[in-house]
Amino acid sequence: MLQRKFDEVVKTYFPDAMDAKDTSINVLGKMQIEHNIDISKVLMATSVCSDDINVPSTTFFNVLFGPFIMGGLGGLPFAGQTGMTAFAHHIPDNGSAFIFYGPHIGITLDGDLGKMYRPRQEETGNSCGALMLALSRFQDSNYKPIINDDDYQQMKLEESLLPYREQILDSDNSQKAITEATYQIIDRKIHEHIVSCKDEFNVDRITLLGGIIINTDNGLDDYFDVRNFEVINVNSL
Ligand SMILES: [Zn+2]
Repeated sequence: MLQRKFDEVVKTYFPDAMDAKDTSINVLGKMQIEHNIDISKVLMATSVCSDDINVPSTTFFNVLFGPFIMGGLGGLPFAGQTGMTAFAHHIPDNGSAFIFYGPHIGITLDGDLGKMYRPRQEETGNSCGALMLALSRFQDSNYKPIINDDDYQQMKLEESLLPYREQILDSDNSQKAITEATYQIIDRKIHEHIVSCKDEFNVDRITLLGGIIINTDNGLDDYFDVRNFEVINVNSL
C-alpha cells in the first residue's frame, strides 16, 4: 500500500522513474543480451553523492566488480581525470567498464521534494543536503562561493552550478531544478573525462547509466529516473 502511494508521488515529478532494483535488473539484462557484454568481467565506477543514503542503490549492481568511487558531494566526479585513468587501469582483462552516475533527491509521501525521512529520525532532513545548501545560499543574490581547502567540494559544486542560478531560482520547483542542473554537470564531466582518458582504456566498450536517484523512506527501495543509457565504443571516440 505504502509502496503504491510512493510510486504515485514519485511519478508526479518523475513519470518514467523505476524502482532502483528493477532498473539494475533491466540494465544488466540489456548489457548482456543486447550488447553481448560479459557481466562477469565488468568493473563498475560510481559518481554519486557521498551521502550514506545512496549506498543501497549502488549495491543493486553488486554482481559487478567495484565500485571505483569517483563521486563527491552532489555526485560530481571529483576524482577527475586521474580517477578515470585509475578506473580504466583496473578493468579485468578482456573486460568492460560500467559507470553509474547522477545526483539524488529525497521525497516524502506528502510530495515534498528535497526532503526525506532518514532511518530512525523523527524529522525530515534535506536530500541532497549539499544541493539544498547551495540552493539556500543562491537565494542571497550577493552570495558567491569561494574555493578553499577546507570546503573544497561544496564550493566547487556551487561554482559549477552558478551558470544555472537564475534558471534554478526562476523555476516552479527549485529543488527539482537544481537537481536537474547537477545531472547536466555530472553527465558532461563524465563524458569529458572519458574522451580525455580514452587511451587509458584497454577495453572496447564503456556502458553509462546516468540519471536521478530518488530517495524514498520506510525501507522502500530508491527510485531511479534514467536519463542516459549508452554503450560507448571506445575505438570510435
Ligand atoms: Zn547528497
